[in-house]
Amino acid sequence: MSGSALFDTYARAPLSFDRGEGSWLVSENGERYLDFGAGIAVNSLGYTHPHLVAALVEQAGKLWHLSNLYQIPGQARLAERLVAATFADKVFFTNSGAEAIEGSIKTARRYHYANGQPERFRTITFEGAFHGRTLATIAAGGQAKYLEGFGPKADGFDQVPFDDIDAVEKMIGPQTAAIMLEPVQGEGGIRPFPAQSLRRLRELCDKHGLLLIFDEIQCGVGRTGKFFAHEWAGVTPDIMAVAKGIGGGFPMAAVLATENAASGIVPGIHGTTFGGNPLAMAVGNAVLDVILADDFLDEVTRKALLLKQGLAAIADEFPDAIEEIRGTGLMLGVKCKVPNATFNAALREQKLLAVPAGDNVVRLIPALNITDEDIREGLERIRAGARAVSSPVSA
Ligand SMILES: *Cc1c(COP(=O)(O)O)cnc(C)c1O
Repeated sequence: MSGSALFDTYARAPLSFDRGEGSWLVSENGERYLDFGAGIAVNSLGYTHPHLVAALVEQAGKLWHLSNLYQIPGQARLAERLVAATFADKVFFTNSGAEAIEGSIKTARRYHYANGQPERFRTITFEGAFHGRTLATIAAGGQAKYLEGFGPKADGFDQVPFDDIDAVEKMIGPQTAAIMLEPVQGEGGIRPFPAQSLRRLRELCDKHGLLLIFDEIQCGVGRTGKFFAHEWAGVTPDIMAVAKGIGGGFPMAAVLATENAASGIVPGIHGTTFGGNPLAMAVGNAVLDVILADDFLDEVTRKALLLKQGLAAIADEFPDAIEEIRGTGLMLGVKCKVPNATFNAALREQKLLAVPAGDNVVRLIPALNITDEDIREGLERIRAGARAVSSPVSA
């Protein structure tokens, strides 16, 4: 597309939105779209949630930015709340997911350095992973299409096939520092690691003195019906990257770690200008007010069941369009029989927004507070979309 002053990084849909309300986006010409993409799992509480708007507006009238040379009370408070609700003892705030992954990798390398093993700097990752778009995170993700043309791949990453824990064991060597994975792969096509695999990875890390890093940037913050997806497996990491849903639409992210794992990080060693700024912290605290309130996560699980059962019925009805429904919580994938771009376009025709992923999957990742009524409306539109791409000869 010529004529745009923007970098040609995205093949954008010809849609432009003016405002949002709950799970709905309103286009500039007044058309309403039901949003099951939620800004790629970012708008965890939908659009213009009154509690989030109030928190942002209140902070905007007080203080936007303050350097990390000073105390930032909202930052300390959000860190304490994250520590209280998770395995972690320490938190470092960043602005984006990729920065949180970079911070996680650096934390792991420094841990070994501080423990007298500077040769341990390599991280094992899994095929199908997505960890971001910086030079180190494309190396971690290992996907050829994101590495091509950007010079030598950053050193320090070894990749094994998805969920191949025997291959991980064979890959561990004297330079291995950490194992990193998304408990549920997002861009890779909504692929959950079995709980048993997460437990084996924890055991391998303990046995070999490695750090386990979870990338919960997409699957965390309530998305699967637990605060973090790894809770389903009863396994905790040493380090975790969090982003997307934690800001409810405001750019913010975090590295969480145990005290031990973060022990190599000392003053001056790592930092950020914008990370943990007062605006982001006000919104992050407001997101936690909602997500950690009684019953909220149980409601996510209940709604997820409603959506998944409805999708399963549609898959039964149109077996030539849909192969299977996968995923957990409100992180569901429709594995398509037709090209996923075709299915996604058919949904958009029905004014339902979803997000394509790898493995020919279309992601359904709506706001966590989506109403039952909007779920039913969405299912009607998905049924209509499936019918449109399904071959007319099928009964
Ligand atoms: C989105 C995402 C990232 C990268 O986050 P950015 O904010 O785009 O840098 C990393 N890991 C996972 C699992 C993601 O979904």
